[in-house]
Amino acid sequence: ELYGAGRRNATGWDLTDPLELAALDAARAPFRDHQWSAGPMIAGAVTGVEERAVFNPADQSDKVGRVRDATAEDVETALNAAPQGFAEWSARDAASRADTLRRAADLYEQHAADFFALAAREAGKTLADCVAELREAVDFLRYYASEAERLEASDLEARGVFACISPWNFPLAIFTGQIAAALAAGNAVIAKPAEQTPLIAARAVALLHEAGVPLTALQLLPGDGPTVGGRLSADPRIAGVCFTGSTETAKRIDRAMAEHLAPDAVLIAETGGLNAMIVDSTALPEQAVRDIIASSFQSAGQRCSALRCLYLQEDVSTRVLEMLTGAMDELILGDPWSLSTDVGPVIDAEAQAGIDAHVAAARAEGHVLKALDVPRDGTFVAPTIIRVGGIADLEREIFGPVLHVATFRADEIDRVIDDINATGYGLTFGLHTRIDDRVQHVIDRIRAGNMYVNRNQIGAIVGSQPFGGEGLSGTGPKAGGPHYVSRFMRPKVSAEEA
Ligand code: GLU
Repeated sequence: ELYGAGRRNATGWDLTDPLELAALDAARAPFRDHQWSAGPMIAGAVTGVEERAVFNPADQSDKVGRVRDATAEDVETALNAAPQGFAEWSARDAASRADTLRRAADLYEQHAADFFALAAREAGKTLADCVAELREAVDFLRYYASEAERLEASDLEARGVFACISPWNFPLAIFTGQIAAALAAGNAVIAKPAEQTPLIAARAVALLHEAGVPLTALQLLPGDGPTVGGRLSADPRIAGVCFTGSTETAKRIDRAMAEHLAPDAVLIAETGGLNAMIVDSTALPEQAVRDIIASSFQSAGQRCSALRCLYLQEDVSTRVLEMLTGAMDELILGDPWSLSTDVGPVIDAEAQAGIDAHVAAARAEGHVLKALDVPRDGTFVAPTIIRVGGIADLEREIFGPVLHVATFRADEIDRVIDDINATGYGLTFGLHTRIDDRVQHVIDRIRAGNMYVNRNQIGAIVGSQPFGGEGLSGTGPKAGGPHYVSRFMRPKVSAEEA
């Protein structure tokens, strides 16, 4: 068996089935106005008293709940309690840890409606994205559970206490994946969710505890980067840090770890990308356009896998661009709770301002080819197409629904490949072509962790499409793949004579 005996990916929900869709919509309705709360979940007294409100990015009048952020003392309490959690959790055999993770997966599925409401209201996700997010979280739990069992017979052991620092763009899937891998390996975890999405994180941790993970083995510290993440990655009691976020922050964590942690402490980082797609003149335009739209604008472009720079072969560029802008006109922007919405808001006002500034600069230069209208309230950014000379014109990753387009001549494909590689990033890459030899030629030369041919370049599936990049895009190993959990472990050898 490739992916662990009997393991199957979650079936999810079929949103094209009107009955299923109606049932789902009805199930989440009670959570439309629900108020959640979160705070440090630590084995000891919580000191923080200040609470802050969490609002829906699509609608600032929709309060989703309240969070009490961790203080420096709370971080210390968690760090003091974690070794006990590690001793207790790592003493369990792999089958018992795996059972607990599988129980958590079942609980996640039972609480799907609750999670869908949270992901929509706290993170601005459309229902399709909410469904994909929950499926991925559940898949991570079950996949890493089988990995724990597979690795039981190896000469590997858990490392100790892991800090898991996760992003707001997959506030359930990546949050859960990091924790599940660390726990599957037998480590204790202190998890720091993104500041924007503490409520869904707290809900997930409550279910992991309910499934049987001891509090000391999984503690939650909502809060800001310097107070929580900064402290954890500079504390010698931490054996490893698992981080998903910007390349810049990963470098900062790496420096702090090098200075304060033991030399064998490990950093597992999944960072940014400047992802390209090449569409040549043999591509099927309808198919390419569908996949460009999904790759650039689904999840409002807030995926590190999203397409940022499209290379169109000159001979077909006018036609493809015409079809592309036509397809963009069909996109519905708005409240992610609404079933007709295709593109929701970006996460917050700061993100919105950064993307808007990028688009404004391009507009001033006359490079904006297409931009949709945006709803006035909420932190929306218009899906936009900007013309560029090539990927080198992108100074940074623009984490939103903004697609850059360049053209190339038939004899320039190797130069395009060189330009893409020269960014130093290497996360996802897309290719649309009908030339078989070209597929191999390009794939052999492009340096990227995940390549997609004649399809979109987002939404890697746990178990069958392990996800992660190279270069500036991350340390590897790939999440949801067979080398991931072992990185949370270290080799151990013993020899004995009679
Ligand atoms: N795994 C996600 C995908 O394939 C992207 C993860 C991320 O944005 O960090 O689309």
